[in-house]
Amino acid sequence: MHKILGKKGFYIRIESSSIGVTGSCNYLVFHLPNGKETRILIDCGMFLENEETELNREFSFDCKKLLAVFITHEHSDHCARIPCLYANGFTGKIYASEYASQKIKTDAIKNYYSMRRTFEPQLYSEEDATSTIRNTFSLQIGVEFQLNDNIFVTPLENAHTKGAVMYLIRFEYKDNVIRVLFTGDYKRTNIAKKSYFPMIGEKYNETITIITEATHGAQKEPKKIFQSEVIKAILEGKSVVIIANGETRYETVSNELKQMKDTGKIPSSIPIFLQVKKNFNLENLNSSVLPSNTRIVKTTEEKQTALYERNPKIIISTNRGYTDSLLKSTIENPRYLIFYTNYVSKGSRGDKLLRTPTCSTIEMGRQLYTKKAEVKKTEEYSDHDFWEGLANLLHGFRNINAIFLEHGDAESKEKLRQELLKELPKLKVITLERGKAYRITENGVRCSK
Ligand SMILES: [Zn+2]
Repeated sequence: MHKILGKKGFYIRIESSSIGVTGSCNYLVFHLPNGKETRILIDCGMFLENEETELNREFSFDCKKLLAVFITHEHSDHCARIPCLYANGFTGKIYASEYASQKIKTDAIKNYYSMRRTFEPQLYSEEDATSTIRNTFSLQIGVEFQLNDNIFVTPLENAHTKGAVMYLIRFEYKDNVIRVLFTGDYKRTNIAKKSYFPMIGEKYNETITIITEATHGAQKEPKKIFQSEVIKAILEGKSVVIIANGETRYETVSNELKQMKDTGKIPSSIPIFLQVKKNFNLENLNSSVLPSNTRIVKTTEEKQTALYERNPKIIISTNRGYTDSLLKSTIENPRYLIFYTNYVSKGSRGDKLLRTPTCSTIEMGRQLYTKKAEVKKTEEYSDHDFWEGLANLLHGFRNINAIFLEHGDAESKEKLRQELLKELPKLKVITLERGKAYRITENGVRCSK
């Protein structure tokens, strides 16, 4: 019975638009034996790499025929291209978590104004941004949402970033079911130490196809160095500037410092300056992660006070905030440790600072500096799981139909594929590539036109 239906056409066709890391966009066609089709997208992200920006202008599918779009999280490489769909005739709805849907709405208009300076001709009009705002709806995490007679979508917790979800999709026809899980960018736990789907120790029995990311390839979890390096610097009487981007990373490093203070590894008297934007609201941060003696730094005067504070002290800043007087008075001072806690991309300012030998001259923002501070980085707080995290996720499933790998450069995807096959030799592992499509059936996967 199953096979006959398979032939008649009960399947999900999947095609990815992404080439490497950015521009996440999965085009799905749900095909019923009676020939009826439903088309949706999982994510609709911008291509951010310079050589790929022109790809933002076109879609490989007909936007008018899409019913809906589901967004895994609010990062621009996963959702900032939504208004372009409306520019190309899309009239459907956008679904995301409560947090992500708010961000999608505010970013649609914000990006429209910033785009006017960078894109010529523009990618979308103000009206398309308004359509995005009008048509974006939030879904409740853990609650199944029925899209139509055959398609059921459940957003599930994901610790990748605030408001991030995975999507469990159930496609039903009579007694037949196809299940797929889109993890999006994936991380199992964050500082809240929550366990997610499937819950730790639980096994998911249904046959499922998993579409996951390959950012770190088969890289194992990096050695944890943050705590020991910060302790060492403080004991040597140095000050530390911690570069952390995003609310989640602010919370993570704050929580680490709090732990170090609470356990007496660093004196609780050490002031911690949290450098934030003018419109920042302290309530945005989970107050239970703030260490003792934390001060909020917003204005230029407060910045100066933080810098004049007698050593040692700890300043937490975003990458963008690490400029001007803060950069100048710390990078040229051997009594500072500058610690990058986010991913440092090749050619970025952080990369330059890390590579420049001590006592050498470095040009930043048309200014010359002599690097005297110590500069370090750690990837231990990455928002993307390493090998152990992904392996843990997969061990939660008893019947994996196939695994698709996306979001990563070609090398990372291939390395992860090899490693997965070592661990589970019978597994079907496919790297999703732009221009190639696959059919997911109840118990198999094959290439599609
Ligand atoms: Zn992301």
